[in-house]
Amino acid sequence: MHRKNNLSEIENNEYDIVIIGGGITGAGILWQVSKYNYKCLLIEKGDFASGTSSKSAKLIHGGLRYLQYGQFGLVKEAIQERNYLLLNFPHLVKPLEFLFPVYSFKWKYRIGMAIYQFFNKGRYTPAYSYLNFEQTKKLIPEINTNGLKGTFSYYDAVTNDARLCNEIIMIATQQEDSKALNYCELVDIEKNENHITLKCLDHIKSKSINIKTKFIVNAGGAWVDNILSVINKKITTKICAPAKGVHIVLSANKIPIKQAVLFSSYANDKRMLYAIPWENNSVIVGSTDTPFKGNINAPQIIKDDVNYILNALSHFVPLLKINKSDIISQFVGIRPLIHDGKSSKDSSRDYRIWWENESLLNITGGKLTSFHSMAKELLGELLKKYPKEIRNKKKRNIDDNCFNNVSKEIINSLQDKYGEHYSDVLNIIEEDRNNIMPIHSDINVLLAEIKYFIRFQNCYHLDDLLTRRFSLTYVLKQYDNYQLIIKKFALIMKSECNWTEQEYLNEYNTFILQIENGTTIENVLA
Ligand SMILES: Cc1cc2nc3c(=O)[nH]c(=O)nc-3n(C[C@H](O)[C@H](O)[C@H](O)COP(=O)(O)OP(=O)(O)OC[C@H]3O[C@@H](n4cnc5c(N)ncnc54)[C@H](O)[C@@H]3O)c2cc1C
Repeated sequence: MHRKNNLSEIENNEYDIVIIGGGITGAGILWQVSKYNYKCLLIEKGDFASGTSSKSAKLIHGGLRYLQYGQFGLVKEAIQERNYLLLNFPHLVKPLEFLFPVYSFKWKYRIGMAIYQFFNKGRYTPAYSYLNFEQTKKLIPEINTNGLKGTFSYYDAVTNDARLCNEIIMIATQQEDSKALNYCELVDIEKNENHITLKCLDHIKSKSINIKTKFIVNAGGAWVDNILSVINKKITTKICAPAKGVHIVLSANKIPIKQAVLFSSYANDKRMLYAIPWENNSVIVGSTDTPFKGNINAPQIIKDDVNYILNALSHFVPLLKINKSDIISQFVGIRPLIHDGKSSKDSSRDYRIWWENESLLNITGGKLTSFHSMAKELLGELLKKYPKEIRNKKKRNIDDNCFNNVSKEIINSLQDKYGEHYSDVLNIIEEDRNNIMPIHSDINVLLAEIKYFIRFQNCYHLDDLLTRRFSLTYVLKQYDNYQLIIKKFALIMKSECNWTEQEYLNEYNTFILQIENGTTIENVLA
C-alpha cells in the first residue's frame, strides 16, 4: 500500500517530541504542542482513534453523577471544557437535552442540578427544569410509570468521538513541522548520547523505521503500562486499572427518543445508563463498567454484558419489548482509569501527568471531554523543562464566492458537518461536478465527502473510512444491500489510494467478513 508520508524524511529528522498514542489524549497534545516551535510527531499503532477514543458514549459532559462522589473540581473543569468545545467545534460538538426520570423525589437531585447549573458560567446551555408525571409520559410514552414522580431536564453535549480525534490531528498537522503517522507502532527504544531512537513497525509498508527524538510523551490511554514496559523493561508497577465498557446500538425506529435519557441499570449495582440518539438514525445504549484483566488489544463482549443492558431497558421501557434481535451492533472500549483501589464504577475519572525520567512524560486517565485542558497542562510541564516560542498561526482564507455553482442548501449542510473545512469538500466538487452526487440513495453522503476524508484524514483501510470517519459500520447491517454500499466505498478508495485489483479485493473481502462475522461489530460470546 502507498504511504502518504515520506518515511525517509521522518527517519532523517530529529524530533523534539514524539507522542505515542493517537487517541484523543495524544491528538490534543499534538495540537497544543504544535502551537509552539517544537518539532513534533505523533505515532499510533492502529488507525487514529481506534483505541478507546472511538468506543466512548460520545458525550461531552460535566459528569453529573460525579457530584455524588464530591468530585466538584472534576465536574467544574469538565463543564468549562464542554462549553469551550461547544463554542469552538460547533460542527462536531452539539448541545443535547437529557432527561433524568426520578422515581423517588429526593432533594439531593435538585441540589445536584443546581450545582451543575452553577458551574455552567456563561449559560452556554439552557437551565435545567422539572417536568411532572404527565409531561414525562408525553416525552417517553413507553416509560415504566410504577412509582414515577417526574423528570429533570438538563443540557449537555454529544459528539462523534472518532471524528473529533481525527479532526484535531488534521488541524495539528496543518501547522508547520508537525506530523502524525497512523499504523506505526513503537516496539523498542535505544538511548543514544544526544537523543533517543524509537524503533517502530510501519504496518502499511510492513517494515521497521527508526525515529529520533529528545522527549517522549506516553499518551497510551489504557496501554500506558504496556508502553512504559517497552520503554523501560524494569518497570513493573501498574498505573492503570483498565475497566471494560460495552454499548449496544439500536435503530431509532425501535426506541424513538429525541433526548438522551438517564436510567437505572436496575441490577444490584444501581449504576446509571444512558440512551443517546445518535448519527445514522441510531440510538446508543450503555454502558457496562467492569474491571478488565484480558488482552487489551482484543476485548470481548460476553452475554452478561448485553443482558445487563437489555435487562435495564426492559425495566425502564417495558412496553418497547427490546430484545437481542433488535441489536444492530455493539462495541466495547477500555477505560484508562488510574489505579486507586476503588471499584471501576466508583473510580475517579481524573487524570495524571508525571515525569518518569528527564525525557519521558506520561499522561493517562481523564475523559474525552477534558482532552483540551489535559493537553494544556501537559504542555505547561514541557514548557517548564524545554521552553519554546509560540509559533505564528497559519490563517485559512476561505472565499465563499468561488463556490457559486453549489446550492446554498449543500453549502449549509457541509458547514454544519465540517465547520471551516467545508471549503475543502467544496473544492473537490469544483474539481469534478460528479462529486456532488450521493454515494447511495439511502445514505446521506456525497462522493466529495468520501474523497475529503481519504485525502485529508489518513484513511488506509475501508474500516478507517466506514467505522471512524462515517460511523456507518455500526448500522450497515440494517441495509439489505450493504454489500453494494461497501463496494461503492471500496471502489472510491481503490481509485483515490491507487490500490491494485488485489488490494481492492482483499480490503473488500476483509471488511465484508468483519461485518458478517462480527470482528469490528464484536461477536457476543456465550
Ligand atoms: C465505555 C466508555 C464510555 C465512555 N464515555 C465517555 C463519554 O461519554 N465522555 C467522555 O468524556 N469520556 C468517555 N469515556 C472516556 C474516554 O473515552 C477516554 O478517556 C478517552 O477516549 C481516552 O483517550 P486516550 O487517547 O487516552 O486513549 P486511547 O483512545 O485508547 O488512545 C491510546 C492509543 O495508544 C495506542 N497505542 C498503544 N500502544 C501503542 C504503541 N506501542 N505504539 C503506538 N501506539 C500505541 C492505542 O492503539 C490507542 O489508540 C468513555 C470510555 C469508555 C470505555
